[in-house]
Amino acid sequence: MSGLNLAQQEAVNYMQGPCLVLAGAGSGKTRVITHKVGRLIQAGVEAKRILAITFTNKAAAEMRERAKSLIGRDAREVVICTFHALGVRLLRSDGAVLGLKPQFSILDSDDVTSILKDAGGTTDSATARQWQWAIGLWKNMGLNAAQAEAQAKDDNEKVTARIMARYEERLTAYQSVDFDDLIGLPLKLLRDHAEVREKWQKHLGHVLVDEYQDTNATQYELLKLLVGERGRFTAVGDDDQSIYGWRGATLDNLKRLPQDYPQLKVVKLEQNYRSTSAILRAANNVIQPNPKLFPKTLFSELGEGEPVRVVDADGEDHEAERAVARIQSIRANGMGHEWKDFAILYRANHQARVFEQALRKAQIPYKVSGGQSFFDRAEIRDLCAWLRLWVNNDDDPAFLRAITTPKRGIGHTTLQNLGIFATKMKLSLFEALFSSSLGSVLPAKAVGSLHEFGRYVNDLEFRARHTMGAEDARAFLTDWLKDIGYEKHLYDSEDSERLAASRWTNVMEFCDWMAQRCGGQIDDTAGVQIAGEKKSLLEVAQTISLLSTLSEREQDQNVVTLSTLHASKGLEWPHVTLAGCVEGLLPFKLDDEGAGKDTVNEGILQRLQEERRLMYVGITRAQRSLAVSWTRKRKKGRDVIAAQPSRFIAEMALDVKTVKEDPREKLKALRAEFARKSAESAAAASAAAAGGAA
Ligand code: ATP
Ligand code: MG
Repeated sequence: MSGLNLAQQEAVNYMQGPCLVLAGAGSGKTRVITHKVGRLIQAGVEAKRILAITFTNKAAAEMRERAKSLIGRDAREVVICTFHALGVRLLRSDGAVLGLKPQFSILDSDDVTSILKDAGGTTDSATARQWQWAIGLWKNMGLNAAQAEAQAKDDNEKVTARIMARYEERLTAYQSVDFDDLIGLPLKLLRDHAEVREKWQKHLGHVLVDEYQDTNATQYELLKLLVGERGRFTAVGDDDQSIYGWRGATLDNLKRLPQDYPQLKVVKLEQNYRSTSAILRAANNVIQPNPKLFPKTLFSELGEGEPVRVVDADGEDHEAERAVARIQSIRANGMGHEWKDFAILYRANHQARVFEQALRKAQIPYKVSGGQSFFDRAEIRDLCAWLRLWVNNDDDPAFLRAITTPKRGIGHTTLQNLGIFATKMKLSLFEALFSSSLGSVLPAKAVGSLHEFGRYVNDLEFRARHTMGAEDARAFLTDWLKDIGYEKHLYDSEDSERLAASRWTNVMEFCDWMAQRCGGQIDDTAGVQIAGEKKSLLEVAQTISLLSTLSEREQDQNVVTLSTLHASKGLEWPHVTLAGCVEGLLPFKLDDEGAGKDTVNEGILQRLQEERRLMYVGITRAQRSLAVSWTRKRKKGRDVIAAQPSRFIAEMALDVKTVKEDPREKLKALRAEFARKSAESAAAASAAAAGGAA
């Protein structure tokens, strides 16, 4: 119980029923979860019956680390994962009752787009992505295609719902699920199958959920079914930090808890242990205009601290220069010693580039988080397609990518005819390839090449199943890449040799990462395995689609963090710069949407509230110093337009002393002083030396 205040202890010690910890940023909610895991084990709950749900894989990895240092080896067996990873577990274990093979594939966003193009008969990616968006929202609301069509508001929605039906048929045929299905299908599984539901309810001793305010309706239902009547769970959240409304998260989940669980114990935490009072007040001022779901107060005993800095710049490059100068001047001042004490946060991924350039120029190491993930890179997706195909032969999107990467002399027409044949016979492409009547639609030579490919995949699959441990896995992967000529393929298809080399480095890194997982060296509960055991390559391949970062390795790096605000949730840094605080970016453009509709005001109001929460999340990441910066001009597409400072800057400053500063001036002064001092001490030293010689 050390390191917990009374309210935190209360939440940790209450294990017999449902518990909600509702509190503002930095009040130790996540700490409650980690400590409660330890407390439960101490109270005799088996580690493997404890489930802790985090918002990201990275947060899961971090919590696992902390739990391990608190409770030691037992922590390894605790299941700490995201809702989606939990979905994979449930489906791999019991999805058969829904007609899903345990080795089903998980489609990524690009696969989904291309299946939708096919299902909707279009070649236009933008249209397909719009469908994808709409279908995702429906799925998050728990609607199937028929229900979506029934509630469609216009023809457009009706068409989309029908495309959804065709899309779902394809997914079934491919034995594949998309990301939203990882919540929706387990929900269906537990709802419709009492024996499965009871099994899990009996198995789980306690469920803990972090960042509860960002769960959506289907996640709520899933949680409810998992914990059953007894409701042994602990949810922690902050309604002021709900920033995923645009993805279907709903604050109703917070309101529903006390209704659905009348015995709910609510604990409020009021002390913030993260930020100085100046930072905390700035945050409170920004969030203040939002309607209050629950009254909350937050105080800090860390002292008033540095005033919040407001930095204005001419344009984005200038802004980046200033942010970098700020980092240098804080270091020169001796206030922050390590690069990892600093973060620059912004609204959208594309804003990262200028900061990257400025940091590079200043030779400051950094990482970009929340940007393009390792697994989104084309070369990694190529390899993943192969792995997916070993795991699930019926995964048609993976089949098409693997058979054409690298090219193996099987042409477009052959594949097209194979596709038509497979559809007619109701087979997957892989099954169709071995059909005895394939010869009637394709020339013998084409059939021969297809057979060769099929046998090769079967052979790889067999070997992957029997390859265990890191060394064997590494050898296997190296051989396989040589076999298919992947390195040559990269150099052939890439104009720039440097780019090809960097892609190949990624491939090597990926193999290494896979190998380490086979060796059990990396704890990872995203899939089906308990960490620490050797795994076969095929088992590891089953879990990769879910992991989106190589975060474990990144964690300890001593580098400056560049991150989107959304990806910064739950994290903290001593010194934070919030960049791009201009109207139109933060808050995001609010005016030109929904024009002419009656609902425009309500819609804008709600969006502004979410923008406020986003700003609140950003401000509350800072521990000791905070700068918010804005630019007088900003790029918008190809144009440069005049920009206004975000309304949040003025609001924030209500009773907070802010200081306008030009970090470059300060840095110049510091450098001059440093030069003067070192000249002085050098002079003194040489005078002393001269004295000694004399
Ligand atoms: P967020 O809302 O941003 O997710 P949170 O409520 O989850 O924040 P934590 O991340 O758990 O807050 O804690 C914030 C910081 O305060 C951490 O550095 C944590 O170690 C520290 N902290 C939490 N509780 C205590 C405590 N009782 N004593 C000392 N430090 C604490
Ligand atoms: Mg937290």
